[in-house]
Amino acid sequence: MFDHSSFDGHEDVHIFHDEASGLKAVIAIHSTALGPAAGGCRMWNYTSGDAMVTDALRLSQGMSYKNAMAGLPLGGGKAVIWGNAHTDKSPELFRAFGRAVESLQGRYWTAEDVGLSPEDLAAAAEETKYAAGLENGVAASGDPSPVTALGVYRGILETAKRAFGSDDLSMRTIAVQGVGHVGSDVCRHLAKAGAKLFVTDVNEPALRQISEETGATIVSPNDIYDQPMDIFSPNALGAIINDETIGRLSAKVVAGGANNQLATIDMGEKLRQAGILYAPDYVINGGGIINVAAEISGNYSRDWVDGKLDTLMTTLGDVLDEGLSGDLPTNLVADKIAKQRIGRIA
Ligand code: NAD
Repeated sequence: MFDHSSFDGHEDVHIFHDEASGLKAVIAIHSTALGPAAGGCRMWNYTSGDAMVTDALRLSQGMSYKNAMAGLPLGGGKAVIWGNAHTDKSPELFRAFGRAVESLQGRYWTAEDVGLSPEDLAAAAEETKYAAGLENGVAASGDPSPVTALGVYRGILETAKRAFGSDDLSMRTIAVQGVGHVGSDVCRHLAKAGAKLFVTDVNEPALRQISEETGATIVSPNDIYDQPMDIFSPNALGAIINDETIGRLSAKVVAGGANNQLATIDMGEKLRQAGILYAPDYVINGGGIINVAAEISGNYSRDWVDGKLDTLMTTLGDVLDEGLSGDLPTNLVADKIAKQRIGRIA
């Protein structure tokens, strides 16, 4: 573990196995410097135990950075469950997961991530106090996606202001990849601001719905990179900014809610060389974890969430400004500030 390429000074890494329910889970805690670790639980059909551990380590480090940039009193952690989210779920499995979370006595708070539904989380919450993003309960905050989408929209305005000298989106064409929970709401905000939209998804009904609502033009998943656009907003998959796609983008801005947009860390510099201003993903998409943090505090307040979102936008602006004026691309500026905030600057 200590030699693992993604270990990055994790405080602890736990492996859980429950014979009766079939649970195989890893909970990785990267840092508790700023508070208890918080990050969602992902259920995925990994190809190997090593792939599972690698995913947990990378995601939990990412949560450290995201929580730090959002100014939250939370550290970074993440849980992963090995299994097929369509065929291997049971309430017993998630109750066993809840017991695993409870055994860490509050060092890690869980929530939903890819593969988990509110019902799964509710089953886990029968066994642990340390689950958030719930639909029912005293401080339940429900689906964080609308707050994530609001942050992404506001982040697009911040980035446009710097790239074009104006945040008037009625003059802009924006290509949106993914119209799921986050992307659909981003489209609604953008359409209201008068932007011309191209949208893509692999879910045809979702595409038709958002096109009817916003007047967006539908294009195929493969063609989204080639549209004439001022702004590219990825809200679906990771690793979509790579050597193949950068050359196809006519955009001057990349700003969207998807996690892990850059295929490799050097894509930040490549975007910069291509004259594209990149809003780092874990900064612009921090709205959702802010909403979850309000629930963790035990006293959900929308005013508190809005205040934190304002501060996050100021932080994003600082990252963009430093990227425009200094030597580092924006993704590395964000990494530097996040490391400073968690006391891990080299
Ligand atoms: P979602 O599953 O609701 O939406 C994702 C959408 O992407 C779906 O409509 C899916 O059909 C589409 N998609 C899948 N493959 C595609 C492809 N090849 N081309 C185009 N579209 C494709 O998920 P979401 O909650 O909206 O999250 C979207 C992204 O934002 C993810 O990367 C997620 O990790 C990130 N994120 C979400 C939140 C949140 O609050 N939900 C917070 C932070 C980050």
